[in-house]
Amino acid sequence: MNEVTPIESPEGRPARVRKPDWIRVRAPTSKGFNETRKLMRDLNLNTVCEEAACPNIGECWTKKHATVMILGDVCTRACAFCNVKTGMPRIVDTKEPQHVADAAAQMGLEHIVITSVDRDDLADGGASQFVKVIEALRRTTPKTTIEILTPDFRNKHEAAVEAIVTARPDVYNHNLETVPRLYPTIRPGARYYASLRLLEMVKRLDPSIFTKSGIMLGLGEERLEVHQVMDDMRSADVDFLTMGQYLQPTPRHTKVIDFVTPKAFDAYAAIARAKGFLQVASSPLTRSSYHAGEDFAQMRAAREAKLARQAAR
Ligand code: SF4
Repeated sequence: MNEVTPIESPEGRPARVRKPDWIRVRAPTSKGFNETRKLMRDLNLNTVCEEAACPNIGECWTKKHATVMILGDVCTRACAFCNVKTGMPRIVDTKEPQHVADAAAQMGLEHIVITSVDRDDLADGGASQFVKVIEALRRTTPKTTIEILTPDFRNKHEAAVEAIVTARPDVYNHNLETVPRLYPTIRPGARYYASLRLLEMVKRLDPSIFTKSGIMLGLGEERLEVHQVMDDMRSADVDFLTMGQYLQPTPRHTKVIDFVTPKAFDAYAAIARAKGFLQVASSPLTRSSYHAGEDFAQMRAAREAKLARQAAR
């Protein structure tokens, strides 16, 4: 791991942290980028790409790959790492499910990722909106594979997860975000073991749905704690692990403790594969939805190969 390098201000105070070269990304300026932005605005859709200030937005939007964030742009939680606004959300947009499906159709998406803000104010945590989005996508673009990235549905996760699993997304993603020791400071509104149980429940209800989860590195976690999270995920039968570098979105957010080198990300990936994940994405710029379509195709092929090997025994 690399310690962060503070850049000194003229007064001699540390002003900001210098990012290592492997974090730098190109400015988003392409024609594809502008077309993606216009489509999202025309359909009144929010994206986590913008709200979370994702460093990959230039690359992803140029390729017409955006992660739609449903249920508004205001979250009822205030996680220390997240750039999404916190407050009292607006009423649910009933046209949103069809707008998401229209966006998928117009962009010709083979694979779509849908996420949401936390909606602790809603009786079902927003689960029914996920179901409506999945149904609208199946009607409008039946060939598009669907990946959802949900909140933890605190205190209502059983009913919420059951409803969503019944709608049969292809991939169910729920991020653990960090190691359990850091939850009180990084993810204070959530519980590590509740999130783990959610992932385990998806698999128990429908083993054909791929499960996926991710953590950010660089928040002060220890190597063995990361290994333990991998073991916990495997015990919940999670198929796909993502690991990426945490980046501080604004000075108000929790600081980067260290920049994990690309080599260390590769070493984590090798350990994760040895622990039995079907698919692993691990690099400084990896995010839950980065290259999600390509990774989904590889994961599906890996499962088919595994089943074929088992049948041949
Ligand atoms: S990695 Fe995900 S959140 Fe980031 S720009 Fe790409 S699609 Fe959007």
